Amino acid sequence: MTTGILALQGDYFAHGRVLDKLGRKYLYVKNPDDLAKTARLIIPGGESTTIRKLAKSVGLWDELKKYGRPIMGTCTGIILLAKKIVNPAEEALGKLDITISRNAYGSQIDSFTSIGEYLPDKRTIEMVFIRAPKITAVGKDVEIIAKQNGDTVGVVQGKLLGLTFHPELSGYTTLHELFLSLK
Ligand code: GLN
Repeated sequence: MTTGILALQGDYFAHGRVLDKLGRKYLYVKNPDDLAKTARLIIPGGESTTIRKLAKSVGLWDELKKYGRPIMGTCTGIILLAKKIVNPAEEALGKLDITISRNAYGSQIDSFTSIGEYLPDKRTIEMVFIRAPKITAVGKDVEIIAKQNGDTVGVVQGKLLGLTFHPELSGYTTLHELFLSLK
Protein backbone atom coordinates (compact mmCIF):
# COMPACT_ATOMS: atom_id res chain seq x y z
CA MET A 1 0.00 0.00 0.00
CA THR A 2 1.69 3.15 -1.21
CA THR A 3 1.81 6.34 0.81
CA GLY A 4 1.54 9.45 -1.35
CA ILE A 5 3.54 12.58 -0.54
CA LEU A 6 2.15 15.72 -2.16
CA ALA A 7 5.16 17.03 -4.09
CA LEU A 8 4.19 20.38 -5.59
CA GLN A 9 6.30 22.60 -3.31
CA GLY A 10 7.81 22.46 0.19
CA ASP A 11 9.84 19.89 2.12
CA TYR A 12 8.34 16.72 0.66
CA PHE A 13 11.76 15.02 0.31
CA ALA A 14 12.18 15.06 4.09
CA HIS A 15 9.00 12.97 4.48
CA GLY A 16 10.37 10.54 1.88
CA ARG A 17 13.48 10.08 4.02
CA VAL A 18 11.40 9.22 7.10
CA LEU A 19 9.42 6.63 5.11
CA ASP A 20 12.75 5.23 3.79
CA LYS A 21 13.81 4.77 7.41
CA LEU A 22 10.58 2.90 8.11
CA GLY A 23 11.00 0.77 4.97
CA ARG A 24 7.66 1.97 3.58
CA LYS A 25 6.83 2.43 -0.08
CA TYR A 26 5.89 5.91 -1.21
CA LEU A 27 5.13 7.96 -4.27
CA TYR A 28 5.56 11.69 -4.90
CA VAL A 29 2.14 12.97 -5.96
CA LYS A 30 2.18 15.60 -8.70
CA ASN A 31 -1.16 15.01 -10.44
CA PRO A 32 -4.54 13.26 -10.00
CA ASP A 33 -3.27 10.00 -11.58
CA ASP A 34 -0.55 9.76 -8.92
CA LEU A 35 -3.09 10.46 -6.16
CA ALA A 36 -5.34 7.65 -7.38
CA LYS A 37 -2.51 5.16 -6.72
CA THR A 38 -2.18 6.06 -3.03
CA ALA A 39 -3.65 4.50 0.09
CA ARG A 40 -2.81 7.52 2.26
CA LEU A 41 -1.32 10.96 1.75
CA ILE A 42 1.13 13.35 3.41
CA ILE A 43 0.72 17.09 2.76
CA PRO A 44 4.10 18.62 3.67
CA GLY A 45 5.15 22.02 4.92
CA GLY A 46 5.83 24.79 2.48
CA GLU A 47 3.70 27.76 1.57
CA SER A 48 -0.05 27.13 1.69
CA THR A 49 -0.91 29.83 -0.85
CA THR A 50 1.54 28.34 -3.37
CA ILE A 51 0.53 24.72 -2.77
CA ARG A 52 -3.17 25.60 -3.12
CA LYS A 53 -2.51 27.48 -6.35
CA LEU A 54 -0.38 24.68 -7.81
CA ALA A 55 -2.89 22.01 -6.72
CA LYS A 56 -5.63 23.91 -8.54
CA SER A 57 -3.51 24.30 -11.66
CA VAL A 58 -2.84 20.54 -11.97
CA GLY A 59 -6.42 19.52 -11.12
CA LEU A 60 -5.51 18.17 -7.68
CA TRP A 61 -7.46 20.57 -5.44
CA ASP A 62 -10.89 19.07 -6.08
CA GLU A 63 -9.43 15.55 -5.93
CA LEU A 64 -7.93 16.34 -2.52
CA LYS A 65 -11.34 17.55 -1.34
CA LYS A 66 -12.83 14.20 -2.40
CA TYR A 67 -9.95 12.07 -1.03
CA GLY A 68 -11.37 9.84 1.72
CA ARG A 69 -8.21 8.04 2.83
CA PRO A 70 -5.90 8.93 5.76
CA ILE A 71 -4.04 12.25 5.47
CA MET A 72 -1.19 13.68 7.53
CA GLY A 73 -0.68 17.43 7.24
CA THR A 74 2.39 19.18 8.65
CA CYS A 75 2.42 22.97 8.91
CA THR A 76 1.11 24.05 5.48
CA GLY A 77 -0.50 20.61 5.42
CA ILE A 78 -2.57 21.23 8.57
CA ILE A 79 -3.48 24.70 7.28
CA LEU A 80 -4.92 23.22 4.09
CA LEU A 81 -6.68 20.38 5.94
CA ALA A 82 -8.53 22.75 8.30
CA LYS A 83 -12.21 23.64 8.18
CA LYS A 84 -11.34 27.29 8.67
CA ILE A 85 -8.21 29.35 7.91
CA VAL A 86 -7.81 32.83 9.41
CA ASN A 87 -5.13 35.54 9.19
CA PRO A 88 -6.07 35.89 6.40
CA ALA A 89 -9.26 33.94 5.66
CA GLU A 90 -8.53 31.57 2.76
CA GLU A 91 -10.03 28.55 1.09
CA ALA A 92 -9.27 25.26 2.86
CA LEU A 93 -9.98 21.62 2.10
CA GLY A 94 -12.44 21.67 5.00
CA LYS A 95 -11.65 18.24 6.44
CA LEU A 96 -10.16 18.71 9.91
CA ASP A 97 -12.51 20.38 12.39
CA ILE A 98 -10.18 23.13 13.58
CA THR A 99 -9.63 26.84 13.03
CA ILE A 100 -6.03 27.67 12.15
CA SER A 101 -4.28 31.03 12.16
CA ARG A 102 -1.35 31.38 9.74
CA ASN A 103 2.10 32.69 10.71
CA ALA A 104 0.92 32.98 14.30
CA TYR A 105 4.39 33.08 15.91
CA GLY A 106 5.64 35.90 13.68
CA SER A 107 7.72 35.92 10.52
CA GLN A 108 10.41 33.58 9.20
CA ILE A 109 13.02 34.83 11.71
CA ASP A 110 10.71 33.78 14.55
CA SER A 111 10.99 30.12 13.53
CA PHE A 112 12.26 27.96 16.39
CA THR A 113 12.97 24.48 17.74
CA SER A 114 11.56 23.49 21.09
CA ILE A 115 10.62 20.55 23.26
CA GLY A 116 6.94 19.69 23.48
CA GLU A 117 4.70 16.99 24.88
CA TYR A 118 3.66 13.97 22.85
CA LEU A 119 0.57 12.95 24.80
CA PRO A 120 -0.07 9.35 23.57
CA ASP A 121 3.32 8.26 25.03
CA LYS A 122 3.37 10.81 27.88
CA ARG A 123 6.84 11.99 26.90
CA THR A 124 8.57 14.97 25.35
CA ILE A 125 9.87 15.25 21.78
CA GLU A 126 11.70 17.86 19.73
CA MET A 127 9.42 20.09 17.66
CA VAL A 128 10.55 22.33 14.80
CA PHE A 129 8.29 25.32 14.07
CA ILE A 130 8.92 27.15 10.79
CA ARG A 131 6.74 30.21 10.28
CA ALA A 132 4.16 28.04 11.94
CA PRO A 133 0.42 28.45 12.31
CA LYS A 134 -1.56 28.12 15.56
CA ILE A 135 -4.66 26.06 16.15
CA THR A 136 -7.16 28.50 17.67
CA ALA A 137 -10.24 26.25 17.99
CA VAL A 138 -10.87 22.49 17.89
CA GLY A 139 -14.15 20.67 17.30
CA LYS A 140 -15.54 18.08 19.71
CA ASP A 141 -14.38 15.05 17.68
CA VAL A 142 -10.79 16.25 17.56
CA GLU A 143 -8.28 14.56 19.86
CA ILE A 144 -5.32 16.63 21.05
CA ILE A 145 -2.10 14.60 20.79
CA ALA A 146 0.65 17.21 21.12
CA LYS A 147 1.23 20.40 23.11
CA GLN A 148 4.00 22.96 23.24
CA ASN A 149 4.13 25.75 25.80
CA GLY A 150 0.39 25.39 26.45
CA ASP A 151 -0.59 25.47 22.77
CA THR A 152 -2.20 22.58 20.94
CA VAL A 153 0.24 21.65 18.17
CA GLY A 154 -0.97 18.19 17.10
CA VAL A 155 -4.44 16.70 16.60
CA VAL A 156 -6.10 13.54 15.29
CA GLN A 157 -9.62 13.31 13.96
CA GLY A 158 -10.42 9.85 12.62
CA LYS A 159 -8.15 9.33 9.59
CA LEU A 160 -6.64 12.79 9.80
CA LEU A 161 -3.45 13.80 11.60
CA GLY A 162 -2.54 17.48 11.72
CA LEU A 163 0.67 18.99 13.14
CA THR A 164 1.78 22.61 13.25
CA PHE A 165 5.44 21.48 13.57
CA HIS A 166 7.74 19.43 11.32
CA PRO A 167 8.35 15.88 12.68
CA GLU A 168 10.17 15.01 9.42
CA LEU A 169 13.03 17.33 10.46
CA SER A 170 13.77 15.87 13.90
CA GLY A 171 15.15 12.43 13.12
CA TYR A 172 12.42 10.41 14.86
CA THR A 173 9.66 8.39 13.18
CA THR A 174 7.03 8.56 15.96
CA LEU A 175 4.47 10.76 14.22
CA HIS A 176 4.82 8.98 10.87
CA GLU A 177 4.25 5.67 12.63
CA LEU A 178 1.13 7.10 14.27
CA PHE A 179 -0.06 8.27 10.84
CA LEU A 180 0.61 4.86 9.27
CA SER A 181 -1.57 3.27 11.97
CA LEU A 182 -4.62 5.44 11.18
CA LYS A 183 -7.42 3.66 9.32
N1 GLN B 1 3.74 29.94 6.80
C1 GLN B 1 3.39 28.88 5.91
C2 GLN B 1 1.95 29.03 5.41
O1 GLN B 1 1.20 29.85 5.90
C3 GLN B 1 3.56 27.53 6.56
C4 GLN B 1 5.01 27.28 6.87
C5 GLN B 1 5.42 25.85 6.88
O2 GLN B 1 4.79 25.00 6.26
N2 GLN B 1 6.53 25.59 7.53
O3 GLN B 1 1.60 28.31 4.54
